[in-house]
Amino acid sequence: MGQNSSKTSCLFCNIITGDVDANIIFHNKDVIAFTDINPQAPVHALIIPQRHIESINELEDTDKEIVGKLFLAARDIAKQEGFSQPGYRVAMNCNAAAGQTVFHIHLHLLAGRELGWPPG
Ligand code: 5GP
Ligand code: ZN
Repeated sequence: MGQNSSKTSCLFCNIITGDVDANIIFHNKDVIAFTDINPQAPVHALIIPQRHIESINELEDTDKEIVGKLFLAARDIAKQEGFSQPGYRVAMNCNAAAGQTVFHIHLHLLAGRELGWPPG
């Protein structure tokens, strides 16, 4: 289990409910996206499911659709914000070794500068 197993103590669930402020840049019935509080690139958004899922490890086989919707949101935000070209990166950290600190899955969307590979 992750560190925030309860929905009520989950920071990102509290952003969804509006109890915690965020700069929301995209939303639909399944997904919201908001700017990261500590941006690592000129554009750094977090795309999250409206439903609480702690990490990739907690995904069920029936979650295929919601995972796809996170990527479709990335596509739509890139188009909306005008960086489909030259491009962007999406990344999802899973658990401590990868640097996951918030245990509600989120796709990082980074753009606006050259992004080195491999990442740290
Ligand atoms: P992780 O390290 O779990 O992959 O990513 C968590 C991200 O959430 C970090 O990039 C961090 O800057 C961001 N973050 C943490 N607290 C807040 C917050 O209160 N508001 C927003 N908008 N982002 C946050
Ligand atoms: Zn949550």
